[in-house]
Amino acid sequence: MSMFEDIPVEVGVIYEGERVRKNDMQVELGGPKVKEKFELAKVRPMEAVEDGKVTIIGPDLKDIPEGSVVPFGIIVETAGPTLDAGLEGVIERRIHGYLNYIEGFMHLNQRYDIWMRLNKKSFQKGLNSFGYLGKVLYRLFKSELSIIEKVQITFITDPAKITEKFSEAVADYEARDAKARGLKDEEVDKVYGCVLCQSFAPSHVCVITPQRYSNCGAISWFDGKASASIDPKGPVFAIERGELINAEKGEFSGVNETVKKRSMGDVNKVWLYTAFDYPHTSCGCFEAIAFYIPEVDGLGVVHRNFKGVTVNGLPFSTLADSAAGGRQVDGFHGMSIEYMRSKKFFAADGGWNRIVWLPKEIKERVKEFIPADVVDKIATEENATNTDDLKAFLKDKNHPIVERWVEETAVEEAPAEEAQIEDQTMPVMTASSLPITAGGFKIILKDAKIYANKVIIKTLKDEKAK
Ligand code: ZN
Repeated sequence: MSMFEDIPVEVGVIYEGERVRKNDMQVELGGPKVKEKFELAKVRPMEAVEDGKVTIIGPDLKDIPEGSVVPFGIIVETAGPTLDAGLEGVIERRIHGYLNYIEGFMHLNQRYDIWMRLNKKSFQKGLNSFGYLGKVLYRLFKSELSIIEKVQITFITDPAKITEKFSEAVADYEARDAKARGLKDEEVDKVYGCVLCQSFAPSHVCVITPQRYSNCGAISWFDGKASASIDPKGPVFAIERGELINAEKGEFSGVNETVKKRSMGDVNKVWLYTAFDYPHTSCGCFEAIAFYIPEVDGLGVVHRNFKGVTVNGLPFSTLADSAAGGRQVDGFHGMSIEYMRSKKFFAADGGWNRIVWLPKEIKERVKEFIPADVVDKIATEENATNTDDLKAFLKDKNHPIVERWVEETAVEEAPAEEAQIEDQTMPVMTASSLPITAGGFKIILKDAKIYANKVIIKTLKDEKAK
């Protein structure tokens, strides 16, 4: 590729899904071990941007000791006569795709969650300065988004400078999200799809509606619209919503058709407002994940930066693994934090009345969007660290979920307490990609169907009683 002749490693789409493992890494930029990290795009006046300028504040790649983990910030400043601030989210999300084109470089997540690694091989080939990353970004922005006339890029590794810019970036994200609130799903004919994550999650199609942000939390409906208009052949595209099939669950004919096509037939049906049956698929970069807690018939939510284990004894990473990769898993739902501020947030499941546990940090962040009559009834890690405590807490606070327990007891008086299906071998579980972790190995079964000679269906109450 002649466009990148002066870059010491190759640059191309084929490197997009590449992972850099810990043992191969020269340096880690941002990531879970670092508190402050960010990437931010800004649209500036023409005279405020010097086209092609790359600035490095703090140690450059060659000055960072091998194996280090460092705080990191990227600021992409752009200008153009028809460019406006409404495109900042779209420009910013492209950083992910473009940096992943670089051989031996991995970019995950977005905004304040960014996590990058450079491998030793590419470093040894000469990729030893952020200057090269700047050149790649600069050329791709200019060639792929013609609306951008000028770009300047700043890389920051200096901790003091990161702290200063981090709070500015967080305020910017919040302002952007606030601007996107208000429009309702019912008010639009078009929604947007995003396949930016398909390099890591092949069957994933993000469906972005006014009241449902992308899983990564970086693309609103307005961003989707802007992106599709400036780059219609790009990874973000318009979806004709089509006929409303199920208003409660959030099922639309146009969404189903597009998801089916774009997931190569892996996913045929998506319900946008529920975590059950046909939930939205989960990519790999979702900000948080909702998980069903059968003991209390409620949903817990945990975000990527939560360090401990959740109320069911599992950390974010394990819960994330059980749904990631573009799968549709009943009771699991990778999602954005912004979705928690939406009126459609698990609306079909009872909305906030179904949420029983979430980390304190997230509860604080979304507090004003939680209905006042339930906010104090939702447990955090300070109230419950296991499901027994959780159950006691919910009962004590009279969380709306408690009503569901009563209903279930009534249903249970019905005769059949255990159903057995024995006469034929039937598939009990199907999955397009099923990871099994055992003894230090990870085995991934593609298009798996698991058969059993006998299926026993029990209600959870029976199990408890024994
Ligand atoms: Zn994603």
